[in-house]
Formats: sequence, structure tokens, C-alpha cells
Amino acid sequence: MPKAVGIDLGTTNSCVAAVIAGDPTVIHNAEGGRVTPSIVHFSKTGEVLVGEPAKRQAILSPDRTVRSVKRLMGQRTTAITVDGRDYTPEQISARILEKLARDAATYLGEPVKQAVITVPAYFDDAQRTATKHAGEIAGLEVLRIINEPTAAALAYGHKQQKMEGTILVYDLGGGTFDVTIMDVEIDKAKTEERDYYEVRSTAGDTHLGGDDIDQALIDFLADQFQKEHGVDLRQDRQALQRLKEAAEKAKIELSSALQTNINLPFLYVPEGGSPLHLEMTLTRAQLEELARPIVERTRPIVLRAMEDAKVGPGDISEVILVGGQTRMPMVQQLVRELTGKEPRRDINPDEVVAVGAAIQAAVLTQEMKDMVLLDVTPLSLGVETLGDVMDVLIPRNTTIPTRVSRIYTTASDYQPSVEIHVLQGERPRASQNRSLGRFQLTGIPPAPRGMPRIEVTFDIDANGILNVTAEDKGTGKKQDITITGSSSLSPDEVQRMVQEAEAHRQEDERFRRLAQARNEADALAYQLEKTINDLRDKLSESERQSLEAKVKELREASQGDDEQAIRRKIDEVNQAFSEVSRRLYEAASAGVGSQAAEGTTGQPGPGYAGGRGPGPAAGPGGDVIDAEFEAEDEK
Ligand code: ADP
Ligand code: MG
Repeated sequence: MPKAVGIDLGTTNSCVAAVIAGDPTVIHNAEGGRVTPSIVHFSKTGEVLVGEPAKRQAILSPDRTVRSVKRLMGQRTTAITVDGRDYTPEQISARILEKLARDAATYLGEPVKQAVITVPAYFDDAQRTATKHAGEIAGLEVLRIINEPTAAALAYGHKQQKMEGTILVYDLGGGTFDVTIMDVEIDKAKTEERDYYEVRSTAGDTHLGGDDIDQALIDFLADQFQKEHGVDLRQDRQALQRLKEAAEKAKIELSSALQTNINLPFLYVPEGGSPLHLEMTLTRAQLEELARPIVERTRPIVLRAMEDAKVGPGDISEVILVGGQTRMPMVQQLVRELTGKEPRRDINPDEVVAVGAAIQAAVLTQEMKDMVLLDVTPLSLGVETLGDVMDVLIPRNTTIPTRVSRIYTTASDYQPSVEIHVLQGERPRASQNRSLGRFQLTGIPPAPRGMPRIEVTFDIDANGILNVTAEDKGTGKKQDITITGSSSLSPDEVQRMVQEAEAHRQEDERFRRLAQARNEADALAYQLEKTINDLRDKLSESERQSLEAKVKELREASQGDDEQAIRRKIDEVNQAFSEVSRRLYEAASAGVGSQAAEGTTGQPGPGYAGGRGPGPAAGPGGDVIDAEFEAEDEK
């Protein structure tokens, strides 16, 4: 059965893992990294780069590079424009997911079609739905959307033999903050019992993370620079990009060092003036002063989660830190202060979420023993009622899946339809909450106000995704619901994007194969030119000319975009060379003398054999030489 993987689709970094022979394993990407930067670059040639290669392009062409797209998930109206083309956040995220799935397939040696994808626990319905759509656009069957802190807890629990208690997961990444408190009961000795995880509360902020600390530092540096030179670096995209990277690097260094140097030579060249450099020393204390207001924003959120779970510091048995930003000593200090506990140090904050997702994937595909996992909905769900009031159907921290129905009625006589405005959030006033969509229930038979009985049902599935239905109890008929102004893509839109992506995957695959062929052709042409030159005095004039012509044709073919034509040329060239080389070997073994024979061994062979095509192995004495070539190839 093909593998289902677990994917941590992060704001800054993403990570993919799978359970291999019972072991949750982090999969390294094509570049050899265990995490993949969540960055997508659209190159001028139409190639789309993802991850490390995209990150490398960020400085040179920031306007073609999309980062932190997760911050935009669930914002329907936000288009990301690159090169005059609009992309939805779902489409950009799908590019990242595609790469992770592709790299995982290469690693596992089998196709990857199913995935569990994680989201911040505090993601609302629109953000979850958008993530699910991104997975579908990437050609994946999304087995489940699970919360990042919950995944972290699963990964932690997997390693425990026995534990019973309450754990707190504090997850501060690049763009989001989550805190989750859960009860865990594990006893591996009792094989008939399932591991038990029950989330008691969750809270967070989907727009709070390390990026904000970077921004504070960037502003600080740019302000300094402006004071000194009267130039605002924020107005210059390239300078700003360099500043950004330097700020993040300094921030990371200050997690272990007490001071660091920021050095950005030639950061700005004023018209007609001499280049300006940025050079300064930053101390951990300075960074902490800038970061404090941001880190402090997590305090009331943790306190609220503790209050919702009805736990005090003494009730927490383990604290797990997730997210790169938790490596900052000041963050750890705050967590210690709030929980009265020393956080676990044996957990890799960059990988633990993907590992947990992989475990959940293995459970769902019955590769691993089932467990009891009870998660909650992070935010209250309800409908708008008369007077801008939010009527809550499902309060926050309700265990999911869940289903709640409530009867509503009309506000005026003979009202033929009602609008059901679905909301998510904690504010009593409807207009201050997030609008998930509006549903029109039409065709209500004429009746005095207050008479019709309309049953609205909210259904939250195991993904934390809401489905709403409405039924006119008077007619007994389930009415059609039309949705307008929704914050998610419609099924039609998703379908269209799935098809587009399928087409570009084929196109990308074609492009990759073409690039591969070009690469081989260029390397071969280069080698052969060298060989022709090396063999100058052994080749006849006509041989040389004909070989040169072949190499020229090869070079020309590699400029074109017909992969098959390039492959044909590669074969032709190899053929032509092997004929010439056969003649050279025959001449050599026909007793031209030992000197010449030595010369041939050393020269024509390694010069162009290069591991491809029908090499001179066909020639006499091929055995020994062949062995040499192979050794050469290994390097
Ligand atoms: P996400 O889950 O949002 O993708 P990550 O968990 O990868 O994020 O965390 C990325 C954030 O962590 C970035 O803001 C990065 O600068 C920060 N970070 C990574 N390593 C460190 C470190 N050693 N010290 C402080 N911050 C760090
Ligand atoms: Mg993360």
C-alpha cells in the first residue's frame, strides 16, 4: 500500500515525515535538508522553485518570491500577484505541498498520494478549509487536518512507555502562536489499551511569531540607518531583503551568543554618492528589549488556555516547546515563569509536528495501532441574529467531532427567505467576528413572523471543519442552501485549480526532464570538445571535422526544448565517438607499439566515456579499461 505522509506546512519552514517500519522518520528533501523553507519562486523562464532554491532567489528578485503565504490562508480576497498573474494562497501553498510529496515519493521509492496536514490549533474554519484545499490542489488526498500542538503531543507520547498527566504545548513559529493543554494517558505495557489524548483547551494568535520580532529588529536597524544617512532602506526592495535576512540571522545568533555583529557592506548606493554600509553590534539585551512586547503577547493567551482548562501551574506535568522561535532564551524564561516547569529538552522543535502528523497518518491507514484522540474547536461558532448579535451554537474548546442544531424563525411577516450568516469568534457583537459565509434559505411559505421553524445544524468533522445545513421544519423539506461571500473557495474553484495544478505538474515534469537532458548534453559536449582537443594528433582531419560537427549539433539541440531530440543527439554523438574510438583501439592493438597503447588507455577513454552511452567497452581490451572508467564514474 502506498505511504501516507505527515506534513507540517509551516509559515517559515515545512517538514514531511512518514512511519517507516514502525518508526516515525523525518524525510529529507531533494536538497538534503530535513526542513524545507516555505518559499516559492517564480523564475523568469517559467520554472517554479520551492524551498532552499527559492530562498536563494529571494534577495535578487524579491518580487518573484513568495514567502510566509500561510499568513494569508483563508483570506479569499487576497490575491498574490507575480508577473501579472494572480495566485490564491491555496495555490501557492499547494506548490510547497507538491514539492514535499514529490521529495517524499523519491525518498520512499513509491508514490505519495495521501497526507495528514497540520494547522495551527488556533486556525479558524476558513484557514483550515483553505489548507485542505491546498492539499487537494497539490493532488493529495487529505486524510485529516490536525492541530500542530496535538501532533507534537502525539510525537512526544509515541516515545513514552508510561505517562499519565497534563501536558502544555507552547508553539511559537515564524508566523503563528498556539498553546494547547491536554490530558495524556499512556501505558505501553497494557497492550489492550489505547493511548489516550484529550485536548482540554487551546488558544493562540494566527498572526504572531518570529516574523514580528524580525520586523521589530528591521525597523530598529532601518531607523538607525535613516538617522545616520537620511536614507530609508525600507523603500528599497533589495536592501530591505538583505536587511531582513541579516536581522533574522542576528536574532538566531543571539539565542546562543550574547552579542553579534551585523555587517552589510554596500547596502545602499545613493545616486552619484558613495556606497553606504551598515555595520553595528547588537546585544542580546537590545534584542530582548525589542522583542519583549511581542513575546509578552503570548502571556495572556497561555493564561487563558490554563483558565479554560482549569489548571494551575502545579497541575502541568510536562511542557513541550515547538517552533524555532522557542529557542530564544527570553521565550523559554516566560514559559518557565507561567508554568513553573522546565520545558523538555529532548524534543526537536522543528520536526516534532511532522513526526506527529506521520503517526496520525499511520493510524488512519491502519499501519499503526489506533489511539484515542479528542481535539477541540479553538473558536466559538454561531450565527448572526437580529441586532448584530452573535448566537453561539458551539462554544470554543468543545470536543470535536460534534453536531449541534437550533431552531430559528423569521423576523417579519411573510418573509420568503432567511439569511444564515455563519460566524466564528469570541465577540458578542456579530460584526466583530470572522464571517465564514452567508447562506440563503429560500422558498419559505408565507407565514406570520415567528411562525416558521428553521432548523440550523452545525457539524464539525474530525478536521475541525464546519458544515452547515438548514431545514424548513414547516414544509419538512431540506432547503437548498446557496453560499455567498464565503471566505473559502467554492467547490468549482477548487476543481478548476486542481486541474490547473495537474496540468502544471505534467508541465513541470516535462521541464525537469528537459533540464536533465540539457544538462547531460552540455556536460557531454564539454567533455567531448576536450577529448577532440586531446586527441588532436591522433584524429584524421575528416574525423575531427565530423566529430566537431556532431558536438555542435548536440549543443544546438540542447538549446531547443525538445527533450527527445536532445536524447537522440546524445546517442548519435556517442555512436560517432565510439566508432572513432574503436578505430583508435584497433590501430593501437594492431601493434603500433606499447607507447601508443599506453597513450590510448590514458586518453580517449576517461576523456569522454563519462558514464553515458556506448563507451569504448566494446573495443578490444575493454575489460581493464572499462574497470577504470567505472572507478572514474564513482567519484
Ligand atoms: P513555522 O512553524 O512558522 O514555519 P518555525 O518553527 O520553523 O516556524 O520557526 C521559524 C521561526 O523561528 C523564525 O522566525 C526563525 O527566525 C525562528 N528561529 C529559528 N531558529 C531560531 C533560534 N535559534 N533562535 C531564535 N529564533 C529562531
Ligand atoms: Mg510550525
